[in-house]
Amino acid sequence: MNIRINLERLKDDIESLAQIGRDPQGGITRPSFSKADFEARDWLKEKIKSAGLMLGEDGAGNIFGRIEGEGKTIMAGSHIDTVINGGKFDGSVGVLSALECLRRIKEEGAAHTRPLEVASFTDEEGNLVGDFLGSRAFTGLLNREMLEKGMTQFGTPFSEILDQTPFTIESILEAQTQRPDIEAFLEIHIEQGSVLETENKSIGIVDCIAGKHYRWCAFIGKASHAGTTPLELRQDAFLGLADFALKSTQHVATEHYGSMVTIGKVSVRPGAFSIVAGQADFSFEFRSTSKDTLEKLKKHLFSLAEDIASTRGLRFNSQLVDETEPVRIPSPILDIMKEECAKLGYSSLTLPSGAGHDAQILASVAQQGMIFIPCLDGISHSPLETIEWEDLEKGANLLLQTILRLAG
Ligand SMILES: [Zn+2]
Repeated sequence: MNIRINLERLKDDIESLAQIGRDPQGGITRPSFSKADFEARDWLKEKIKSAGLMLGEDGAGNIFGRIEGEGKTIMAGSHIDTVINGGKFDGSVGVLSALECLRRIKEEGAAHTRPLEVASFTDEEGNLVGDFLGSRAFTGLLNREMLEKGMTQFGTPFSEILDQTPFTIESILEAQTQRPDIEAFLEIHIEQGSVLETENKSIGIVDCIAGKHYRWCAFIGKASHAGTTPLELRQDAFLGLADFALKSTQHVATEHYGSMVTIGKVSVRPGAFSIVAGQADFSFEFRSTSKDTLEKLKKHLFSLAEDIASTRGLRFNSQLVDETEPVRIPSPILDIMKEECAKLGYSSLTLPSGAGHDAQILASVAQQGMIFIPCLDGISHSPLETIEWEDLEKGANLLLQTILRLAG
């Protein structure tokens, strides 16, 4: 059916949602279960009701808007939480485009057999306990211990934040029992990179989503006087880290080009002039679209860390924070998206996603598909996040046509 989304309405929705959680730095700070997030949740629920969709919410605070049908559900969505001082398109584009698609289907009385649902998942950004709290609860991939003992990014226990909400650990763990049978989950998202812009394409059709491995790590040596301890007698934890940072990056660049390795946070103790570093704590992550490569990296990088530690008289400690598996987008959905994109006359590029998304988590219970639209200069998780509205219109129209094809 030849229906198209209403860009003006979608634009209005994105701009109105972006008013909630505005911070003094000109960005949006709307982590899940914050005051701003609850305001945004109420706003979204009103939108779902006024679109004439059936409003639902599960025990993890995932919000749904449904149009009834027969058989397994076709679901589309993303998240409305943000990082601290984030932008207005990450996540909201996915939820509000899906809402617009369902609104248009309802307005036009477009034929569909299957039930349709828009979904907004809690804490995709991982401000509370690891990434994807909502979609993990929805798919039954959470464990109780992680919820009970989890510390938030804000340094407060997760349970304390939960006490301020209508949700409980029990309700979060039960969210999976409220899930309908899902045929497919579709997500449109900003690329958060600059491939599409460089290639001058409005649409990216994602063929796989990278898996990742996150750890907190430390090299532990001995703090000693910087003036009196000869270089060869030092157990310098900072040098262990520096050596590891260079060698691990070199290994990934030469043996597994296309995979990623990153040390994003470092703290050296005691951290002063005149003292050789006794301990270097750091975050360590690697990502790949290949499961085999992730396994190889896991083995190689941690044995590299052990080797460096023993050569330098240090100890290496690490603790797993989170890991996800890479996901391949199933070919029937890829084919449908490519066909519909060609019919719409939009040029597209097939590309992998280096960032994780709710669609990846949903892969355990449904087929999934992802559409990327460009964001200017690849900037995301920043108040400077910007898109061309025309790209969003194209992406949302492709989402609409894909939903209609899958909905039968
Ligand atoms: Zn996102």
